[in-house]
Amino acid sequence: MARGLAAAYLPAMSVRAAVMVAPDAPLEIWELDDPELEPGSVLLETVASEVCGTDVHLLHGQLAGVPYPIIPGHVSVGRVLENRGVNSDALGNPLGPGDVVTFYDVHETCWSCWHCLVARQPNRCPSRKVYGITYSARDGLLGGWAERIYLKPGVKVFRIPEGLSVDQVIGGGCGLFTGFAGVDRSGMSMGDTVLVQGAGPVGLSAAAFAGLSGAGRVLMIGAPESRLDLGRALGVDETFDLETTTLEERKDRILSLTGGRGPDVIIEAAGHASAVPEGLSLLRDGGTYVIVGHYTDAGDVPLNPHVDLNRKHATVLGQWGTDFHHLTRALTLLARHSEALPLQRIIGKRYSLEEADQALADVEALKVTKALITP
Ligand SMILES: [Zn+2]
Ligand SMILES: [Zn+2]
Repeated sequence: MARGLAAAYLPAMSVRAAVMVAPDAPLEIWELDDPELEPGSVLLETVASEVCGTDVHLLHGQLAGVPYPIIPGHVSVGRVLENRGVNSDALGNPLGPGDVVTFYDVHETCWSCWHCLVARQPNRCPSRKVYGITYSARDGLLGGWAERIYLKPGVKVFRIPEGLSVDQVIGGGCGLFTGFAGVDRSGMSMGDTVLVQGAGPVGLSAAAFAGLSGAGRVLMIGAPESRLDLGRALGVDETFDLETTTLEERKDRILSLTGGRGPDVIIEAAGHASAVPEGLSLLRDGGTYVIVGHYTDAGDVPLNPHVDLNRKHATVLGQWGTDFHHLTRALTLLARHSEALPLQRIIGKRYSLEEADQALADVEALKVTKALITP
């Protein structure tokens, strides 16, 4: 098939990608064809993609419906190489070659099913696809762990706002948007005491956005100490190291900080089932508990419905994934406060495509908070 006009100045090349061929198998480097650009599509040169906890779950086959082989990498930053008839980003900002952008990894939401139309919860739309997770590597460059990323027509591109660096955006990565969504979902009020459980990228971002949302005090429970140190750099007032404090010690201190009542809002970003009963036992009566850390099944946990929920008059919410508005609002807000929130410090290490296995191992072993793939 004849290639388009762009081929005249952008010769076809083979594009290297790190491919997860099957669960628990070493990644392979594949050479894939440069895509044919459809009208309405955008081709990016990858600047950086991230390794998040979800990628570790993907490696171990813990997510349903994943069409291995896949090119992982759902949140990425890239430079526009070609834009075929797309002259502005999703918010109308001019877009052209050389612009540095990110994009909403969820695509093909149908806007016509019951979930989209009646429940108005497109995050549960059965048609939706996610870059780096539910596209096969045989379908093209649809994940970030590759030299180039092909944005199909309709993918929502967002030009990185003025004042934000690539490292700040990708340092938070998908945790940035998930943490933002968790705080948004909590409906917290200015002056509230907010406790974040978990000190990974989601927890760190949630803590930062709770502060920006006007929290009176932000507390964090997590480990290791290096992550809690990042939490303090992002505005956390007091941290509790899971490795050196007992549940009783944490509870005593947190209750004493809150007049014996407990935090108004708790965001669970730990991903361990045991965090939930601890969190509910700390939550003040009438408080709000948001669970964002359980993207995969981390097991069961006993709860006492009388004590933990009913008598407590608790509001317990789950937050599944993020919508496009979370991405744009999070980055717009972050751009305004970029100097106060050094999210780039979350980046632990950068890895080449060939080092993707090592990156996954390091993330799984908590050796790095945020690992980047920089092809
Ligand atoms: Zn739908
Ligand atoms: Zn992720």
